[in-house]
Amino acid sequence: MIRFDDDKPHEECGVFGIYQHKDSAAHTALGLHALQHRGQEAAGIVTYDGKQFHSHRGLGLVGENFSSAKVIDRLRGQSAIGHNRYATTGETVLRNVQPLFAEFAFGGMAIAHNGNLTNAMALRKRLIDHGCLFQSTSDSEVFIHLIAISKHATVVDRMIDALSQVEGAYSLVAITKDALIGVRDPMGVRPLILGTVEGAPVLTSESCALDIMGAEFVRDIEAGEVVVIDDLGIESLHPFPRVPPRFCIFEYVYFSRPDSHVEGRSIYETRKRIGAELARESMVEADLVVPVPDSGVPAAIGYAAEAGQPFELGIIRNHYIGRTFIEPTDRIRHLGVKLKHNANAASLRGKRVVLVDDSIVRGTTSVKIVEMVRAAGAAEVHMRVASPPTVHSCFYGVDTPSRDKLMAANMNIAEMTAHIGVDSLAYVTIDGLYRAVGEAGRDALAPQYCDACFSGDYPIPLIDHDGGGDSRQLSLLAEAE
Ligand code: SF4
Repeated sequence: MIRFDDDKPHEECGVFGIYQHKDSAAHTALGLHALQHRGQEAAGIVTYDGKQFHSHRGLGLVGENFSSAKVIDRLRGQSAIGHNRYATTGETVLRNVQPLFAEFAFGGMAIAHNGNLTNAMALRKRLIDHGCLFQSTSDSEVFIHLIAISKHATVVDRMIDALSQVEGAYSLVAITKDALIGVRDPMGVRPLILGTVEGAPVLTSESCALDIMGAEFVRDIEAGEVVVIDDLGIESLHPFPRVPPRFCIFEYVYFSRPDSHVEGRSIYETRKRIGAELARESMVEADLVVPVPDSGVPAAIGYAAEAGQPFELGIIRNHYIGRTFIEPTDRIRHLGVKLKHNANAASLRGKRVVLVDDSIVRGTTSVKIVEMVRAAGAAEVHMRVASPPTVHSCFYGVDTPSRDKLMAANMNIAEMTAHIGVDSLAYVTIDGLYRAVGEAGRDALAPQYCDACFSGDYPIPLIDHDGGGDSRQLSLLAEAE
């Protein structure tokens, strides 16, 4: 299987939850569909009907798993949670597909997790020594076992007890027989939003999942907040010691959908502002500003407006290929990126072109795109990147390659310029990125966001990774086998 977007980091998951709505499963399927960009390898929904939990989980897209009325009808009940998964490495197997479900002494509970725990392996070893039997190889399963062995009396206290032992980034939604629970880790690295549809509370990774069902935005769940939604209303708890929030700044650059509002900011407008910063910092004389579609489009619009240069769709993306093209023959395998992108020669011929991309990870796609633009007759090709150089791996829920595969970690600007084959290359600075998200710049002593993949400043200890960031997010699957 060839993956055509391999040169982008991958968000690992989207979560959704709804409480006391007559169409809870259908709304959860809709929400997951809107969050599809956060994970395309598996999807699952668990509902509760007042007596029993019902679950359907499968590999593939939401539409492949939840488009049948039969499946939705079988997911009875007025509370539901759902999850889209992107696996870090190895085969995606059904036992790792979320939501995870367990029967406890206090009743059943289903959990869906977006993020990554940085002490999951240490906890897992401890729990296995304690006699716990793991069903999956997902880091999220440690939540289940920590809750199971907690000595606290109530479900919420057990959950808080479990969470106080984990390190890492997590936005969680869970259902029990009495409640929908939402949690954001103390630094709020991954997003989680509260909304309401027809009076029913909704929790979702991004606001685009509210729009699809006509739900209203209520507020972001705060960093370190636990919300317990039950028949008595919505209770907000702050059980963890308060620390300064460090939301993932890459959500603004690439991960979140452009029509989402996250942490009070429009993703689309923020991306345009990043493009404008990029133009202020590194404008070059050119005839056209061309985005690398689709994710580079808003930054290119911002760049073009600030630079006063025409914006053109000089590269056209084929939207019908899907993420993968299964088992291509050797004859077409070499076409690679051309199956997804094609240069619009009519607009490029003889022009000095600024290509705007949101990020470059390995550089493999950039090399091919530049080749394509030159072959279409561009006179000059300049690359402008709407994020600082990605020089470190993410350990907080985003799949990035190990450092030896990150182009910017292994080459200087001159080397990268030659490697990609452009006339010039520039990245937005980290202060420029911070200005675009509304800060005066990066506070060197107290950075306002997680920006570890650019700065190497990891705000949450990497307990499972002694070297501190030199390798990719560890695969529990590989570890367990
Ligand atoms: Fe986001 Fe990068 Fe931090 Fe990961 S390391 S949470 S991608 S900013």
